[in-house]
Amino acid sequence: MTLPTRSDLDAVPAYRQGRPAPAGASKLSSNESPHPPLPSVVAAVQQQLGSIHRYPRMSAPEVIGRLAERYGVDPALVTVGAGSVELAAQLIGAVAGAGDEVMFAWRSFEAYPSLVRIAGATPVEVPLDADHRHDLDAMLAAITPRTRLVFVCNPNNPTGTVVGAAELERFVDAVPRDVLVVIDEAYVHFDRSEYFDGPDRGAGLELHRRYPHVAVLHTFSKAYGLAGLRIGYAIAPAEIADAQRKVAVPFGVTDLAQAAAVASLDAEAELAIRIDEVVAE
Ligand SMILES: *Cc1c(COP(=O)(O)O)cnc(C)c1O
Repeated sequence: MTLPTRSDLDAVPAYRQGRPAPAGASKLSSNESPHPPLPSVVAAVQQQLGSIHRYPRMSAPEVIGRLAERYGVDPALVTVGAGSVELAAQLIGAVAGAGDEVMFAWRSFEAYPSLVRIAGATPVEVPLDADHRHDLDAMLAAITPRTRLVFVCNPNNPTGTVVGAAELERFVDAVPRDVLVVIDEAYVHFDRSEYFDGPDRGAGLELHRRYPHVAVLHTFSKAYGLAGLRIGYAIAPAEIADAQRKVAVPFGVTDLAQAAAVASLDAEAELAIRIDEVVAE
């Protein structure tokens, strides 16, 4: 006899990790940085190594404080996770369960369908248009009373297409206020199209400020080059951030990752040069 597992997991594909990148290469599918970590980041992690016998600080006070200051938001709205993929799972878990729908364009970030199914919710995939762009009108038309969350991956992984700021605002404005719009900006630093002004190029933060139903996902994995340490952050409406903290697996973000994130925020000028190189390539 085999042990029973949840029958709804039959629909969950195993995550397929792409081939490892050769040394020094840019791997654009997962957008790992081709550069080794900055010496200042390595030093910060090394300094933290002496305390790995302790559990990490779950409240991640330094990195959350820095991010709140950087974006001018209440620290209570900022959450960290073991990569933004964990935060995507938290956001889904915060709002959707059995019988609820979570929408995203397809193709888009490979993890969305599995994360939605793992939460017991129903993925609703809206095909990209002929130019591989988000079909925002079709997405709006696909919203039902069951829809709890809509992901907009911007720029979109894997097509690299961008929803412009004005277009995105029109979309957000048309989405009912009881549906959370999550703008996944993992690639935002590599985008060179015109956007709102701000410390990052993406429109997400500005829309979060203007609308009560918008959350933004950022990661230290891509532009900041910390893919191996697993740390990302979300900025979400207060009630959503509170619910995220409930569904999060405790101690997911190590103090090593927190220290590396803080050191990376200190080294943004250096990192910006590297990002420009990757964009040029
Ligand atoms: C890489 C990626 C993520 C997740 O990255 P983490 O390493 O988990 O922070 C999330 N969304 C998109 C679109 C990505 O490309």
